[in-house]
Amino acid sequence: MSLESQKFETQAVRTQTDKTQFLEHSTPMYLTSGFVFEDSEEMRASFAEEKDRNLYSRFSNPNTTEFVDKICKLEGAEDGYAFATGMAAVFSTFAAILNSGDHIVSARSIFGSTHSLFTKYFPKWNIETSYFPVNEVDKIESLIQPNTKIIYAESPTNPGVDVLDLELLGEIAKKHKLLLIIDNCFATPYLQNPINYGADLVIHSATKLIDGQGRVLGGVTVGKKELIREIYLFSRNTGPALSPFNAWVLSKSLETLAVRADRHCANALKLAEFLESHAKVNWVKYPFLKSHPQYDVAKKQMKLGGNIVAFEVQNGVEGGKTFFDNIKMCSLSANLGDTRTIVTHPASTTHSKLAVEDKLAVGITNGMVRCSVGLEHIDDVIADIAEALEAI
Ligand SMILES: *Cc1c(COP(=O)(O)O)cnc(C)c1O
Repeated sequence: MSLESQKFETQAVRTQTDKTQFLEHSTPMYLTSGFVFEDSEEMRASFAEEKDRNLYSRFSNPNTTEFVDKICKLEGAEDGYAFATGMAAVFSTFAAILNSGDHIVSARSIFGSTHSLFTKYFPKWNIETSYFPVNEVDKIESLIQPNTKIIYAESPTNPGVDVLDLELLGEIAKKHKLLLIIDNCFATPYLQNPINYGADLVIHSATKLIDGQGRVLGGVTVGKKELIREIYLFSRNTGPALSPFNAWVLSKSLETLAVRADRHCANALKLAEFLESHAKVNWVKYPFLKSHPQYDVAKKQMKLGGNIVAFEVQNGVEGGKTFFDNIKMCSLSANLGDTRTIVTHPASTTHSKLAVEDKLAVGITNGMVRCSVGLEHIDDVIADIAEALEAI
């Protein structure tokens, strides 16, 4: 049986670094900053990259390599590099590829810190970004300029849970010879593989569902070999590397991603269905609900609907406040993709700095709740949310 023909679950479990002389079953932690050489010739050849081996953990380490190898297999990518955080992955990917004067076309609904990069920091280096509304992918072509280099998007989006047609994005990028970069954080490699639709690079915040237990931060970029080479060279000099400890945790987490994601998604669908029929809820958005505006696209490109459910409670800000103050079990936190169900109020927390129009443009209303559905028994999650809704 060839390794390439193995299924997702098998590759997630069986991709491992070479065993040491102790023949350990589970990969050990390689908590070492550097590696030693036999002699001066080996040292010279290693630094000249004539030899493929570990030199220094800012460049590579057996634990980070194992983690990256797994993500590459699970995403169908040629190569990758692992970062200390998802944002280090996003920043380093753009910084390695772009030059002053380049232009990005991006979906408007993107992670808050990525939005800050595009609007606050990149303009300092003369890199401009044009946004297209998530539900108007047909606007993309009109935003492309001679200096455009990248089309960028997340799907499903945060916190609006909108879905972008990856196949269409891939076609537009190919037609205009642009790089397509997708932040695949919400879907994980288990639900969708953007490379199948023409993405050149895929980014993950491993902090979310890849860790899945709210413990460590991490990020990774995978994709075309020649692009990863640029990202690697940039990163080995600038230092955003993932720690071996976190890489070990994240590689272990990937062993259970498929079973966790199956349950996360089944729970989220049940909650979404419950909310859809609740009198105190104005609307619910979940990719695998028939009422979702991009339901057909979601069904085409996603294996399951993900673990994020967005909904609007009645009575705007007041309703939201009452809802959150009456939640007893679920966590009020800004993180997502944890075993514990988390409810967030984007309007007053993660997106509070946005102007009202900008909030509405990315689907955030005052009564909107974002729920990251966890792995508790779904009956208990629904009971907690139902009680809080009753209080409104
Ligand atoms: C959380 C998140 C990031 C940033 O990841 P960190 O690990 O927190 O730096 C980037 N993109 C998306 C979609 C995210 O949800």
